Amino acid sequence: MIDYQSILNNIYQEVIQEKDKGEIATYIPELANIDKNTFGIHLQLISGDSFSVGDSEKKFSIQSISKVLSLALAISKVGTNIWNRLDVEPSGNPFNHLSLLELEKGIPRNPFINSGAIVIADILVSLLDSPKIDFLAFIREISGDSGIDYNYKVADSEKKTGFNNYAAANLLKSFNNLENDVDVVLDFYFHQCSIEMTCSQLTKAFYLLANKGKCLANNKILTKSQAKRINAIMLTCGFYDEAGEFAFEVGLPGKSGVGGGIVALLPNEFIISVWAPGLNERGNSKLGMQALEQFTTQTNQSIF
Ligand code: GLU
Repeated sequence: MIDYQSILNNIYQEVIQEKDKGEIATYIPELANIDKNTFGIHLQLISGDSFSVGDSEKKFSIQSISKVLSLALAISKVGTNIWNRLDVEPSGNPFNHLSLLELEKGIPRNPFINSGAIVIADILVSLLDSPKIDFLAFIREISGDSGIDYNYKVADSEKKTGFNNYAAANLLKSFNNLENDVDVVLDFYFHQCSIEMTCSQLTKAFYLLANKGKCLANNKILTKSQAKRINAIMLTCGFYDEAGEFAFEVGLPGKSGVGGGIVALLPNEFIISVWAPGLNERGNSKLGMQALEQFTTQTNQSIF
C-alpha cells in the first residue's frame, strides 16, 4: 500500500522551498493580487480515501479548467455531433492567445483553446434554459457540493479586458460557427472561467472522468466512451503548448488554468488537484507541474 500522505508531505516540503515560483497571470486584473506562496494538493482515490496538504481548502479561480466541465456537459447533451463544430487536434500555440491563428474555416482546433471553448459555450447557451444557473447546477451536482459559485468580480474584470476573446468570437460568428450573439456567449464564457473551487472540490468534480462517467454520487453523467474521449483530449490538449512536456514529465491526462490550478487523473485510480498560482512561461502552474512530476515518479503511477 502506497503511503500517499507521506508522499504529499514530502513533495510539499520540497516544492515550497523553490525560490522561483513563476509569475502570476496579470492580464486578468482581478487575478493579479493572489499570493504566490499559496500551495495546496488534494488527492482523491477512486476507492474512497482522500489526502491533502497545504492550502487545499482555499478557493481559487479555475479559469481554463472549466473548459473540461463545459465540454462534459455539452457532450452529455449533444453526443458526437459536437465534433461537427470543432476538432480534436493539439494546438501547439501559446495560452495567451490565440484562437485567431487556430481557426481553420471557422473550426477551432480543439475545445480547450479559447475559440473552441467559446464554441462549446455557444452550444450550451443554445441548449440550456438558464445557461449560467444550469451550468453551475451541473458542477454542483457532479461535485456533490452546493458551495461552488461564480466570482462575479473576476467575470467582470475579464469582460472589460478580454479583447482577444471578443476577436475570436467575432471571427467564429463570421464563419457561421456561433449561433448566439457574441456578447451573450462571452458573458457565459467569462462566468464559467470565473468559477472558484478548492483543490478538494476540483478533484470531486473530475471524479466522473476517472470513474467511467459516473460521478461521486454514482450517477451516470457520461458514457464510458465520452469519458475516455475527454481524457484523451486532456492528454493531448490540456496544457496549452506544453501538453507534450506534461505528458513527458507527469504522464497523466489533465487540465491547467491561468489561476494556477491543475487537475490530473489516472482512470480507475485517482484524481489529483494542485494549486500554486505562479505560472511558468507557457502559462502552466510552475510548482504545480513540479509537484505532479514528483507525485507520479514517487508513486510510480501514470498512464504509461
Ligand atoms: N478566461 C481566460 C481567458 O479566456 C482563461 C485562460 C486560461 O486559463 O487559459 O483568457
